[in-house]
Amino acid sequence: MVRVVLALLMPLYAGVAADVTFTFDNASRTWNLSNGLIQASFELNQQDKFRLRELVLAGRGDSWRSPNDVSSSPIRIQVGEITLNGDTSFRLLEQREATIPRGGRRLTLQLADSSDLGVIEVDLELYSGQPVLRYRVRFRPAQTSVIRRAGMLPWNLEGGSGPISTLHLNQWLRPDTTDSFLLNRRTLSSPGQQTLVRSGAYQRHMGYLALRDSTDKGLFAGWEFDGRADIIVQRVNDEGRLSFSGLITGLNRRVEAGQWFHVPGAFLGLFRGDWDDAGWTVQQFGEKILAQPAPAKFPWVVWNSWRYQQNIDEVTLRHNAEIAASLGVELFVVDLGWAEAIGEWRADPQKFPSGMRALADYVHSLGMKFGLHIAFAEAAPESRVLQENPEWATSDRYWYFGAESLCLSHRPVREWIASELIRVIDEYDVDWILQDGENMVKRCTRRGHTHSPADWNYSNAVDGLNWVVQHVQKQRPQVHWENCEDGGNMLTFNMLQNYVTSITSDDSGPLVTRQAVHAMTYVFPLRYTDRYMPNDALTNYITRSFMFGGPWIVMTRLPEMEPQYLQILRDEIALYKTFREILPESRVFHLTNRPTEEFIDVIQSYHPPTGWAMLFAYRWEANEARRTVQVRGLDATRTYDVRFQEGRRILRMSGAQLQAGLTIEVPRYTAEIVWIRPAE
Ligand SMILES: [Zn+2]
Repeated sequence: MVRVVLALLMPLYAGVAADVTFTFDNASRTWNLSNGLIQASFELNQQDKFRLRELVLAGRGDSWRSPNDVSSSPIRIQVGEITLNGDTSFRLLEQREATIPRGGRRLTLQLADSSDLGVIEVDLELYSGQPVLRYRVRFRPAQTSVIRRAGMLPWNLEGGSGPISTLHLNQWLRPDTTDSFLLNRRTLSSPGQQTLVRSGAYQRHMGYLALRDSTDKGLFAGWEFDGRADIIVQRVNDEGRLSFSGLITGLNRRVEAGQWFHVPGAFLGLFRGDWDDAGWTVQQFGEKILAQPAPAKFPWVVWNSWRYQQNIDEVTLRHNAEIAASLGVELFVVDLGWAEAIGEWRADPQKFPSGMRALADYVHSLGMKFGLHIAFAEAAPESRVLQENPEWATSDRYWYFGAESLCLSHRPVREWIASELIRVIDEYDVDWILQDGENMVKRCTRRGHTHSPADWNYSNAVDGLNWVVQHVQKQRPQVHWENCEDGGNMLTFNMLQNYVTSITSDDSGPLVTRQAVHAMTYVFPLRYTDRYMPNDALTNYITRSFMFGGPWIVMTRLPEMEPQYLQILRDEIALYKTFREILPESRVFHLTNRPTEEFIDVIQSYHPPTGWAMLFAYRWEANEARRTVQVRGLDATRTYDVRFQEGRRILRMSGAQLQAGLTIEVPRYTAEIVWIRPAE
């Protein structure tokens, strides 16, 4: 039976070497997509419903199926009062496929609904080496319509057994930081129980949800949207059926006849194991498929001026630049306070009598790149832009350092901002933009803007922020951008595509920084955890609390540092540079719980190409003087050299012994680094 079906399969394309294959069986109107790691099958069934049949983790055979009695489909769009979803009858107009960048293939299905509201297109994508199905849906109405709802995760799936555990994570929260970067673990054991993820700029959670059943069969979801969205997974019955929804908040979008409305993309990935296994799978997908490519020798060592607050000037900055360059800093960033005012993006002539370009040239002459902070969606009440265009302000005020806000999706505003950014880049020879502000997807219900007052969320995310960033990046592709909104408060899979790194916590000390890195590394590639170190009386506990992750950003007032602390900083930067380039390709293992000051916390990296592992262990006031951890990722049969950076010991141990337990001594108020490398 199986053989007969296979014989009827028609390849949709031929000749490309990728291991991604799509086939279509015309008789059953079934599509099979595979890359050897994941198989996804869809059908246009006998009732003309377009639905997912099954997602399978190949090799393991783990299957997540559509229920028989409920349709599961990537489509959920409400047009006026009519909903198009898995219960809609469609006819297939066209199918086409394409090779896409980063080892991917895309199948596009064009469907028309039976009442001819318009045309739906569904993109289904697989990438070589990634057990992930990425998809997006768009709709082109036949007549001008209002889209009232759109879902990014409208799935119904069954296949889990026993209690279903879920994981989602808090992002940076303001103003109270005690809940920032918490791990939220839930168990869905009876019908009706659910997990709610509220993601997007200025929301509570990162744009990620993972779940696994009692056998560690797992599935994760990510969505590519910076605006607000509510993602729910609910347990439907005792058999473990799950229903998902992922609605964009407050959607109310008028779409002209013949124009496309794009539902933001999303993806489902399969894994087996624990949350670190889920994390490694989603991090690789993020790094290899979604993320903006990193510049060379990344992550960099960075200096940032914020320790001076806004009291900066060219003499102070030149002095810092000289010392920074001598320490090995690679990127020199001038933070808030350089401009005449927020929204008035010209260098303050009092602070910079020689001009900003002269400072940039000096920084470049010292061999560093030059970065500028710019909060382009904010403008002080007295700024020229608001004086001349008071109607450009958003209806809701955020008061970023006393500034009002500009509505990025109002077309004259975004065009002005884009031209200002390009002017600043060109005039000041900027290599790096530190994007900052208060909520990058602002609420704006003002009438008279080019967006509908009822559609501020989608508009400000897609037509506003995305448009500005992508428009400027297209014009000035050599400039790299860092995501920031005081802290990591827009931690999404759309963010990954627009920036090369992201702030995690703000300037918030060693412990909160480690908590931030702990949480971020369950979801995002390691280079998306940059860290701001404000301290000047340095110890290795402090420096190493900021060392693990993406760019390491030093904020110290360098000319005021004691010589012995400068020496520590110089040595620690040199140490960081010996391993920073393998970090982005490394797995992360969370060997202990979310850090507190009560115990020794340990985080591990493992670099598959070289077989190197590194352990970072931190002790503040903990009573325990040593901690035994089970090292992960190693080959049990291999022999390793284990070197303690501070302990000055070298051990030779087998992978099996290291898995059973390695004891690390950590004196109070210090941090230890353990290097584990395959023995010669
Ligand atoms: Zn507006």
